[in-house]
Amino acid sequence: MNPLHSFSSLVRSAVPRIMWPTVPHPMAAQLYYQLDSFSMSEKLSIEHLRQHQFEQLFVLFNFARQHVPYYQQKMADLPCINHPQVLAELWPELPLLTRSLLQQAGPSIFALEALPAHEPAELLSSSGSTGQPVTVKGNIATQFFWNAISLRNHLWHQDKFDKTFAAIRFTENKAAQPPFGTSYPHWSTATFPIVETGPCHHLTLCTAEEEARWLMQINPDYLNCNPSTLREITQYFAQLNQKPSRLKKVHTHSEIVEPQLRTLVQEVLGIPLIDTYSAKEVGYIALQCSENENYHIQAENLMVEILNDKNSPCQPGETGRVVITTLHNFSSPLIRYEIGDYAIVGEPCSCGRTLPVIKQILGRKRNILKMPDGRQVWPAFANNGLRLMDLFAGAQFQVIQKSLNEIHINLALIKPFSDVEENSLREKLITIFSHPFDFTFNYISHIPRSAGGKFEDFKCEI
Ligand SMILES: [Zn+2]
Repeated sequence: MNPLHSFSSLVRSAVPRIMWPTVPHPMAAQLYYQLDSFSMSEKLSIEHLRQHQFEQLFVLFNFARQHVPYYQQKMADLPCINHPQVLAELWPELPLLTRSLLQQAGPSIFALEALPAHEPAELLSSSGSTGQPVTVKGNIATQFFWNAISLRNHLWHQDKFDKTFAAIRFTENKAAQPPFGTSYPHWSTATFPIVETGPCHHLTLCTAEEEARWLMQINPDYLNCNPSTLREITQYFAQLNQKPSRLKKVHTHSEIVEPQLRTLVQEVLGIPLIDTYSAKEVGYIALQCSENENYHIQAENLMVEILNDKNSPCQPGETGRVVITTLHNFSSPLIRYEIGDYAIVGEPCSCGRTLPVIKQILGRKRNILKMPDGRQVWPAFANNGLRLMDLFAGAQFQVIQKSLNEIHINLALIKPFSDVEENSLREKLITIFSHPFDFTFNYISHIPRSAGGKFEDFKCEI
């Protein structure tokens, strides 16, 4: 059944005392229309999707050439593009916009003209887990699609709107500090205009113990946090042999989800992990399918290309660089933006949605493990039944490759292991990393996160 049918009965009336039929707020009506439109566009053929995308890109592209200094200069030698089909044919030849080019572009990526009904705009900076944030402008139109896709995510996964959400994520709001955090009567800015929800409780990032204690006290139905926070909390609950009794699912975002984390969460908390792939500068990129662990590209919001070393599109099963073109951001158009992530292309999904599939998001180039034999792999952190996350008694850890043969394991807030224990751990690490690297243990008080609260399990510093 179309989940919109049951959702329609929940849409809030914006006129006091008119309960039936509902008179929604204009924004709610726009969002509802969009969700209805999504329910059709997610089943279009790939050819039709692409055709619609290029109709939109045609408008965006010509606007960018005319009104955005960066593209005025970059695209100066291109011929006049007078039809979406001409743009589609030229597309593979268009230059890529790398993160460093976007950083260098500075304000030249901003449109000189503000479009009515799109602006006002606000500056958005990526959290800069690389130490190299990028800054673009988001606006009313991009926020609208963010909200619509956020609602789509709830509908795909049949979240019950009257339930309680808990969110653990970094905020500078002092009220969100432990032990109590703060509370809002609505889940989010996406749900607020359209539907009554249960409350959303919010805690800023803190220690696993504080987060777990807060969750036990709130006892929410749903949890929203990043994967590294989830791993720490889950391991903490595993040690205590405890868990919040009402928790039904967890939504994650912002970091890479290792497959082992899904297993751990299912084992310890007995609930599924639902992931989203998004970035501040482009919005939602892909949502996890409701039927499996595939990610569906949000093709109504952006065009995603996954390109190999020769800049050709990857086939299912192949790994490539994620290249994104936003469809609706006329304040700072991003055309063929190489976001820096790598991903594996998936086969068409069995769920009936035709939105293109990403099988797995792998992360950044700096997350690649360099093997002494020349191979480059994203570490799986598990092998032959051994899992890295099980080795360190729930302590926060970070693995850093220092050279082709040397790996440092930074461990926070843990009593140092004895020499015998370290040697036993080294044997397990050799199995997990499939190579006798020289493992060094560093015991430190704290492993810092980036300003936005992001965390990387593995970094290669070669
Ligand atoms: Zn699917």
